Amino acid sequence: MKNYILSIDQGTTSSRAIVFSSQGEAIATGQEEFTQHYPNNGWVEHNADDIWQSTLRSCHAAIKNAGISSDEILGIGITNQRETTIIWDRATGEPIANAIVWQDRRTSDYCQQLRSQGHEQSIQEKTGLLLDPYFSASKIRWLLDSIPGARSKAEAGELAFGTVDSFLLWKLSNGKEHSTDATNASRTMLFNIHEQCWDEELLTLFDIPPSLLPKVKDCAADYGHSASELFGQELPILGIAGDQQAALIGQACFEPGMAKSTYGTGCFFMLNTGEQALNSNNRLLTTVAYRLQGKTHYALEGSIFIAGAAIQWLRDGLHLISDAAETEALAKQTDSDHGVYLVPAFTGLGAPYWDPEARGALFGLTRDTGIKELVTAGLESVCYQTKDLQKAMEADGQRPVNIRVDGGMTKNNWVLQKLADILGATIDRPSCVETTALGAAYLVALQAGVLESSESIANLWQLDKRFEAQLSKHERDRRYQGWQDAVSRVRSQ
Ligand code: ADP
Repeated sequence: MKNYILSIDQGTTSSRAIVFSSQGEAIATGQEEFTQHYPNNGWVEHNADDIWQSTLRSCHAAIKNAGISSDEILGIGITNQRETTIIWDRATGEPIANAIVWQDRRTSDYCQQLRSQGHEQSIQEKTGLLLDPYFSASKIRWLLDSIPGARSKAEAGELAFGTVDSFLLWKLSNGKEHSTDATNASRTMLFNIHEQCWDEELLTLFDIPPSLLPKVKDCAADYGHSASELFGQELPILGIAGDQQAALIGQACFEPGMAKSTYGTGCFFMLNTGEQALNSNNRLLTTVAYRLQGKTHYALEGSIFIAGAAIQWLRDGLHLISDAAETEALAKQTDSDHGVYLVPAFTGLGAPYWDPEARGALFGLTRDTGIKELVTAGLESVCYQTKDLQKAMEADGQRPVNIRVDGGMTKNNWVLQKLADILGATIDRPSCVETTALGAAYLVALQAGVLESSESIANLWQLDKRFEAQLSKHERDRRYQGWQDAVSRVRSQ
């Protein structure tokens, strides 16, 4: 019986694989960290072979830990760090350079140049994205212009580009499949999200030969098979989605107005807007939420660079705590009206400010400010930043009032209660918090016909704990005003 799904979750710092039952129950995991390369100020690279080998070993570990054999596997799903850019040689499968990671800022000047030439608006209209080095297009161009011989090989059709999903698919299928899904495509800045195709004008603008590009498919689709030597037999590859979109699926946010927010190192907030691609006037991104059976659903997305990373800073930078889990007890001991604000703009501010030059600051310090107030301010900064995103969504005409959360920080009940209070919203934590890998597994189950539809997925979603707002509106507004004052003082523009 084929009762299991192998879900690959290829992340920024580690590769993971989880074996799920066909009903979405996590059975066993394999995980491996890999090396980050920082060859220059603002540059971040991964060795693409590290990505592949660590993924493959994680798959083998997960299968072994689950105690199953590969002929019990229904199919493989892939979810991945988005935007990270890889170009490889079609004949050998060898990458022409290290992968340029989404965090990499080397193409800032080039993006600035495009902005001053007036291209931002048309790019936003076509792709839903803001002109920023974050996305793949400027990274592809950089590789073609900087790696000797790359451009002429690309023009001769000898090279292939892919985001991480596409590269893994190529490796898994031994070069037979060069495809991606609509969610990953929507993060390249070359994909017209309304027409669901690569955009010729953008390809010309970024000077990228179309022959480099993968075929774009639905999230649940036939992506070929893994080569038989990898797992002892061929396994069908049936689902792909970028990590945040996979989390949206894993959280079963299929109705317009449903939202999920993931709290790991950073925070990613995504709101389903249904079949309508809503262009943001408040510097949020419009992106493909998922495409199933040819039908595209869209989302508004806001990302915060520093969420759990603020807690890491309290631990590793200030040595105020020795473990992130200590923060909950400290926050409970703190006077709720302590008046201290931490703006963790360590690497600038993300959505909705997009201010790369801003830097962090602490405000409201008094003689009796101590460790617990600083720690509490760190936790609250994550809630206030989410409030900024909620406000931006409201200004775009959307009001998420029920938010499903996941990620490492959501173990902290105090944070989730504070989040409910500051947002004035209901916060729901599901019983399965491995939502990213789960989302990719659900895509496989859909494609294999084990689950019938998104409703079947929605029926499997289970609440672990609900947090309701308890703070009065007056108090909520007063405290948020303090945050806004603090943010206005760190902004560079
Ligand atoms: P990522 O996938 O980005 O590596 P995770 O989802 O594993 O992140 O979450 C890890 C983050 O969550 C870390 O930044 C850590 O500081 C934070 N974290 C973990 N446990 C807690 C906790 N109990 N309270 C607050 N933050 C926590």
